[in-house]
Amino acid sequence: MESKLPHLGTSIFTHMTGLANQHNAINLSQGFPEFDAPKLLKQRLAHYSEQGFNQYSPSSGAIPLQTQIANLVKRKYQLEITPADTVTVTSGATEALFVAIQAVTRPGDEIIIFDPAYDSYEPAIELAGGRAVHIAMQAPDYAIDWPQVAEAINDKTRAIIINSPHNPSAKTLKASDFKALKNLLIRHDLLLISDEVYEHIAFDETPHISVLKDPELFARAFVISSFGKTFHCTGWKMGYCIAPKLLSEEFRKIHQYVTFSSFTPAQLALADMLAEQGGHVDELADFYQQKRDVLVNALQDSRFTILPSEGTYFLLLDYSAISDLDDMAFCEYLVKEVGMAAIPLSVFYQNAPDDKVIRLCFAKEDDTLVEAAEKLCSL
Ligand code: PMP
Ligand code: GLN
Repeated sequence: MESKLPHLGTSIFTHMTGLANQHNAINLSQGFPEFDAPKLLKQRLAHYSEQGFNQYSPSSGAIPLQTQIANLVKRKYQLEITPADTVTVTSGATEALFVAIQAVTRPGDEIIIFDPAYDSYEPAIELAGGRAVHIAMQAPDYAIDWPQVAEAINDKTRAIIINSPHNPSAKTLKASDFKALKNLLIRHDLLLISDEVYEHIAFDETPHISVLKDPELFARAFVISSFGKTFHCTGWKMGYCIAPKLLSEEFRKIHQYVTFSSFTPAQLALADMLAEQGGHVDELADFYQQKRDVLVNALQDSRFTILPSEGTYFLLLDYSAISDLDDMAFCEYLVKEVGMAAIPLSVFYQNAPDDKVIRLCFAKEDDTLVEAAEKLCSL
């Protein structure tokens, strides 16, 4: 069969986790928590399945979960939404991103993405017949050059995808970024896809700026989040998309033929979790900030340059003082010879610079982080 995506192979996360397992290495590559989901959540999942809630949910989501998501949005971002019109539950943020991209991208459309970019955006754009226009953010700041974005916009441009807090750079977008973004979106009548899966993991007392806070931005946006990050349950693959009514209608047309609906017991369990222990969400930033600091402190005596992590559960390290290897070769060396798996940053670029930067995931027990850091300090 002729491949529709001939340039793509296995994702870096599958590759690196496979190598980590094969070499029995500490796995700080693929982003997932080492700690378990909250007890209440697991109990309710079992409870709802036991009680017979094992059939399809409504396509746009179980009503209790839609309602709780709307409550969370009101509490966090002071936005009142009508869940029946605007909240769609999906099988992970990955599905929400895929569906939103299919909804906005017509054949020949250009969608602007920022490199280093999360790996699922571009294949979804290509499958919709569109073209990803990559704009690179430069290390070590990974700031967006908005005049460059303005120059890239033309008649074919349809949407911009943003991601804050950002995977893999661990940077957050600032108020000035949103001002520049809004000007461009309005001037050129573009749509926005805002990947906010790390919305509750922003550090140093600097709150996450959500597109949901700004009515003019939200009016043209698909805002996407993931329960996997929020409740330490990446394996459940539960997420959602919030969009204004008309955009949600387009989103739902596609969602109903991708998955139709998501795992019912998980939806009901997540609704209970938000209703009864919603405070978990507010503790997440401190929880991960402490993890970040354990890792950063343990690396102080290493020869790596530590880049600032403003959010997410990732930390970037520059290894140019240690090795001349390119980042893929360096990560293979780390996993095979040092016993520690990381992600090379170059895989997230169209035209990768030779930056010599790797990404570590610190969603791990403190002991694991210290052990990994000891290995890195030996280099
Ligand atoms: N976007 C970003 C930036 C992510 O890091 C991830 C997960 N690593 C996703 C989307 C996908 O989330 P989910 O696992 O809920 O599909
Ligand atoms: N989003 C996770 C990461 O960035 C991995 C997701 C996946 O394995 N596809 O590491």
